[in-house]
Amino acid sequence: MEHKIDAYNNILELIGNTPLVKLNRIADQLTGNFYAKVEAFNPGHSSKDRIAAYIIEEAERKGILTEGSTIIETTSGNTGFSIAMVSIIKGYECILAVSSKSSKDKIDMLRSMGAKVYICPAHVSADDPRSYYQVAKRLHEETKGSIYINQYFNELNIEAHYKTTGPEIWKQTNGNITHLIACSGTGGTISGTARYLKEQNPKVKVIGVDAFGSVLKKYHETKEFDANEIYPYRIEGLGKNLIPSATDFELIDKFIKVTDEESAHTAREISKTEGLFVGYTSGAVMQAVKQLDAEGEFGKNSNIVVIFPDHGSRYMSKVYSDDWMNDQGFFDTKNVEEAQQIEFIK
Ligand code: PMP
Repeated sequence: MEHKIDAYNNILELIGNTPLVKLNRIADQLTGNFYAKVEAFNPGHSSKDRIAAYIIEEAERKGILTEGSTIIETTSGNTGFSIAMVSIIKGYECILAVSSKSSKDKIDMLRSMGAKVYICPAHVSADDPRSYYQVAKRLHEETKGSIYINQYFNELNIEAHYKTTGPEIWKQTNGNITHLIACSGTGGTISGTARYLKEQNPKVKVIGVDAFGSVLKKYHETKEFDANEIYPYRIEGLGKNLIPSATDFELIDKFIKVTDEESAHTAREISKTEGLFVGYTSGAVMQAVKQLDAEGEFGKNSNIVVIFPDHGSRYMSKVYSDDWMNDQGFFDTKNVEEAQQIEFIK
């Protein structure tokens, strides 16, 4: 006789239904009530588990994928990790074409999750056959029964959040949410969540967080793609140098930009005040909240939900490294006391 054991069948059953956590000390001086949707509780430690599982399962429903099929994507970031994770459980091959700029740590992490990684030269243009876009496209065309996730241009990216993140937040706030604030990279998270929330209550205000060096905010305001807006920045995962069709700009009320430096300090502050070890873009979204608060955006009865997309452990050699912070000049303007406190006993 089989004993009744209270266990999940596999880790995919743990995707989604992430907790909403009240923010306390970091929001002390702000007007309103602040809640974070903590996406690091997903088994792959980021919001990207949702789209990886959803897009792959949609392809299964359509009969495109069969056992041993191949999933292809062009990212060394969270999406790559989530796709690799889902592929393991479902028995697919995972191929990731990534830029030669990607850190060794990231590539090792993806390979540890069984992905086959193609490292493509970073300096070539997007239409060069060696670029990671073209390599992914070619592999997709050559591999029968494969799917190309193409997260920036895939409507299913929005749909994944429309079906999961949106309803979860609506339920968790009992419909009392007034503001949604989220970083916009592909735009899937903010667009899908906003679409659901605005269908329930069109008054929910949706604010996207963008980087200096990205085209999204200006495009939203003017419908113009301005290449002069583009320059390098350090935060990974928000902002873009192209207009992703996975962003529904109509659903976003406004964009706000944040700096690399303030976002990094704010990420460290969240960890130290809330005990929530979060990634760089969680710092960015909270930095945006501080700026919006200073502009008088919120009232005392506002219920603001922010999305914290991933976990701090992915940023040990960046935001959580004092050496890295110092190299960026991020400790020049702020008190160095903020550096990690270490005492060496001799
Ligand atoms: N933060 C991080 C760390 C991410 O990896 C991403 C995804 N690019 C985002 C925020 C933004 O999410 P989305 O792509 O759904 O806009």
